[in-house]
Amino acid sequence: MTSVEELQLKIKELEEKVKELSLKNQEHNVSSHARAKIDHMSAEVVDSNPYSRLMALKRMGIVENYEKIRTYTVAVVGVGGVGSVTAEMLTRCGIGKVKLILFDYDKVELANMNRLFFQPHQAGLSKVDAAANTLQFINPDVTFETHNYNVTTLENFEHFMGRLKSGSLSEGPVDLVLSCVDNYEARMAVNRACNELGQTWFESGVSENAVSGHIQFLIPGEIACFDCAPPLVVASQIDEKTLKKEGVCAASLPTTMGIVAGLLVQNVLKKRQEEYRKRKQEEDASGQNVEEAKEEEVVVVHEDNEWGISLVDESSNVESDSKTSSGLHLSQGIRVAFERSTDSSNKDTEALESEGDGWEEAEVSLDDLMAQMKTL
Ligand SMILES: [Zn+2]
Repeated sequence: MTSVEELQLKIKELEEKVKELSLKNQEHNVSSHARAKIDHMSAEVVDSNPYSRLMALKRMGIVENYEKIRTYTVAVVGVGGVGSVTAEMLTRCGIGKVKLILFDYDKVELANMNRLFFQPHQAGLSKVDAAANTLQFINPDVTFETHNYNVTTLENFEHFMGRLKSGSLSEGPVDLVLSCVDNYEARMAVNRACNELGQTWFESGVSENAVSGHIQFLIPGEIACFDCAPPLVVASQIDEKTLKKEGVCAASLPTTMGIVAGLLVQNVLKKRQEEYRKRKQEEDASGQNVEEAKEEEVVVVHEDNEWGISLVDESSNVESDSKTSSGLHLSQGIRVAFERSTDSSNKDTEALESEGDGWEEAEVSLDDLMAQMKTL
């Protein structure tokens, strides 16, 4: 006869086996569903094309060259509630055939499950590894570089700077840094690195009570840096150093974090498009379309304002038409309902000014005005 202890041991053994098998099954499922890499983004509208909806942005005239997004490198610092969702959005948009560089040193915990992205079975894994695994499966065309460390320590900071400086596909500086960290020291480290490198970046954050958030665009040397104009001080006069105390559990909501991540990525997309436009304008200006530019110069209508805007055609004689008898200048097509008589208005003001206690005099002149109006 088997004892209770023996049975309990057997159950434990079987449970372990089930766990092992389900993990293997999961891995098999993942690998059997992974798609092959795609060299060129196609605009072909078929259900099997993962880029058809993105490339439709071109067809709709929103962007001119969506596929250029694949040359873009973005570094996401902090892969928590905001950073992980940011990274997922960038991945789904097909950012960088290139690279998405992830920096973080936290582990996935069950306490993170109120947020988006991470799942219970990832508990215990490092956030960067767990994120890269999931994201690689979602879009294998994106290259991921992960660094599982704290950017604020001296040694890591040097390495962090190095990766920002030469982490892009062409081993040059990354195109953009998105700070999605949750503490002041880390923000200061990102600020310092970006200041030293002249690297544009976005700062982001969610309030301790989880119901508000912010993003802030920073261009070193052009805009006050994070240290000079900390968003929390500017907006709420709260010193960020006093927040995030040990043992205090901040609130968080998937909604607010999702909104902040959405704002970040929307701005990444907008910024990329702006850069493209600027480059194209520069290219056009520097020779390729000189003739077109010359033609445009001739067409300019109104040279004394820089926008070339002119409300009325100067050649037509509108002034005499639009001038009222009281000397008021009106634009073409506009007329006044009543003409002000210069005489009576002068009299009224004189009356008010000459009398010390002007109330009765004012009433009298009001009666006068009423009488005048009736005669109109
Ligand atoms: Zn500064």
